Amino acid sequence: MLNLDQEVGAWDTVLLEPLTEDSFITNLQQRFKRDHIYTYIGNVLVSVNPYKKLALYSTNLVETYVKRAPFQLPPHIYGLAESAYRWLNDRGDNQCIIVTGESGSGKTEAARIVLQFLVLVSGNSPEVKKIKDRLVQANTLLEAFGNAKTMRNDNASRFGKFLDIEFDYKGDPIGGHLINYFLEKSRITHLSPSERNFHIFYQLLSGADIHLLKCLKLQRNADNYSILQNESHCPSTTEEDDKKLFVYTKGALEVLGFAPTDIIDIFRVLAVILKLGNLQFVPCNNIDGTDGCSISNDYELFEICELLTTDHRWIQRILTTRQIDDGVLTDLNAIEACKIRDLLCNTLYSRLFTWLINQINDSIKAKSLGKRRVLGVLDLYGFEMFKQNSFEQLIINYCNEKVHQFITNICLKDEQEEMVKEGLEWTKIEFFNNIVICQLLENENHGVLSLLEEPHIHTDGDYLTRLEQCCSGHMHCLIDEVNSPNSFQIRHFAGPVTYKIQGFVEKNQDNLPKDHSRVMFRCDLKIMQELFPEGNPKRCNVKKPMSKASQIQVSLNALLKSLNNRQNHYIRCIKPNEMKQPRIFEVGLVQHQIRYMCLLSTVQVWRSGYCHKMPFILFLCRYKMICPHTWPKWRGSAVEGVSVLLRSLPIPGAEFTFGRTKLFIRSPRTVFELEDFRRT
Ligand code: ATP
Ligand code: MG
Repeated sequence: MLNLDQEVGAWDTVLLEPLTEDSFITNLQQRFKRDHIYTYIGNVLVSVNPYKKLALYSTNLVETYVKRAPFQLPPHIYGLAESAYRWLNDRGDNQCIIVTGESGSGKTEAARIVLQFLVLVSGNSPEVKKIKDRLVQANTLLEAFGNAKTMRNDNASRFGKFLDIEFDYKGDPIGGHLINYFLEKSRITHLSPSERNFHIFYQLLSGADIHLLKCLKLQRNADNYSILQNESHCPSTTEEDDKKLFVYTKGALEVLGFAPTDIIDIFRVLAVILKLGNLQFVPCNNIDGTDGCSISNDYELFEICELLTTDHRWIQRILTTRQIDDGVLTDLNAIEACKIRDLLCNTLYSRLFTWLINQINDSIKAKSLGKRRVLGVLDLYGFEMFKQNSFEQLIINYCNEKVHQFITNICLKDEQEEMVKEGLEWTKIEFFNNIVICQLLENENHGVLSLLEEPHIHTDGDYLTRLEQCCSGHMHCLIDEVNSPNSFQIRHFAGPVTYKIQGFVEKNQDNLPKDHSRVMFRCDLKIMQELFPEGNPKRCNVKKPMSKASQIQVSLNALLKSLNNRQNHYIRCIKPNEMKQPRIFEVGLVQHQIRYMCLLSTVQVWRSGYCHKMPFILFLCRYKMICPHTWPKWRGSAVEGVSVLLRSLPIPGAEFTFGRTKLFIRSPRTVFELEDFRRT
């Protein structure tokens, strides 16, 4: 139960006195110690990961937060979710909840709790219930296929996720749409010490019954599969959990409407990937003196072909030879063959993942075409900085830069500029604007990502040379061939990260040879035709796929553009320690995060600013019924109408400030009061 007497410190740091970085952190720390993990900065929710189960989430508590304004109750993610849901229903404006924070800070948990809240507060007709089940199960499925244990998080999202939930006029979910961003598929064939591959592999091996294992030609023990082993032989310590989760994953597939044959096909593809990863190549010399290779463990190859229902000679051919332009085959040496095997494994998995998302989207698609409003939840992967960082980390960190830029633009820059433009008195609040880093990365001519696209870049060496030529003078880019060879460093908003150049060009292009697509398409296993449509010989004019860097730039920019037209709510997640332990609050670590998230500046803007603003005419339209002088029609100017309306209200005048074109409202309480007047 909620006990207001037990609240500690300031609920809302806007009210913190005195406001300093120290007092801000101490407030979070005191609250964290007493399990009050949520704190507001105005309408921004700060959440500190407790790393333990708290009695904070229940149907009772959901009911407590329903139809209550955030300031009326202690800070809670339910309060923020209720706010978004209420705006959606009362105003009909599209909403988005943007969850940010570094890896392991609690974003995915937060997104899950928001969804749980929306499920509990909305209607329960059979059709609505069905769609709600599907939305929840979509999460379960995506976590199994898209999450993995990393050094920083045992359940790290290895893809970015944007779930848009569509609501009807009653506020009931009627459908949804998922967008995924850049799956870290290289994990399939390259694991760092103490990390695991995607959860689904361990779930399948632990959870499949003996018949299923036999049908998939798999053995129970994960150590039998080289893509599940890593240098430190990270044991699957959670075998029991994996087994349990497999039941949930299978249940999710069923709820989402996957046919039993589809489910078996999915497992078959997973088995193929596990077995492909085991294929070994031994060098052999051709008669003409060139190097070639052959597969040493034929039995795996035969089983792969049985699973795919195809001829082993085709698979053998694509793995040990390469087709050059005029159709002539040339032999691959053993190292090249390993690389092509890995590329095939990675591609199979990422295509399967995209296919799953498409199937989920079909399953959660709204049936009716009526007017709808949407509430989106954005949960991207957190900022990453490992000992060794590669192309994947650059893409992940680029996404974080862009989202950070979006949030600071709205909450800090635009907010302040607007007040000046509207003629309000304003003392500028400084903050670090990371637009320079975004430009360094995506500048059209010679940004770090754009350089990868230049036509004459064929090797990682070419790329590094161009980086040196174009970016080395930049204050956020450091290339030091002497002390840190074959790498470059970007000083990100969240800290400097050194990227190893090896593999950049290949990972960006990511082209599966045509021959592979054709062979995959020709397999009798039905799903393969859907995974490799470009392999269809009847399909002409297959476009060259966009590079990974271009893809992510295009899709992320489209997303942010669409968020510009929504009302956004922010959850800023903080990781209290690196050990993933409860009760430990490392001040230095928290300080680093609140600094790069500009949280103190956010408090300052809130403190001296306004929570809400509306053009005079819109304000008048919305609230004219409150006052007999403005209802039903006001004949004078909008600004005069607003003055008359405000004078009739029992709200102190200090709550409102007139700008040139808009009315500014100081506290959220006033907005809620206005809404209540409007309703009564
Ligand atoms: P990544 O960017 O790596 O995906 P993330 O920010 O999504 O990280 P989560 O996976 O949500 O992080 O959280 C990491 C772990 O922290 C969870 O698996 C869970 O154990 C714990 N955790 C997070 N939030 C909470 C919470 N509100 N209550 C209890 N435990 C939590
Ligand atoms: Mg996550």
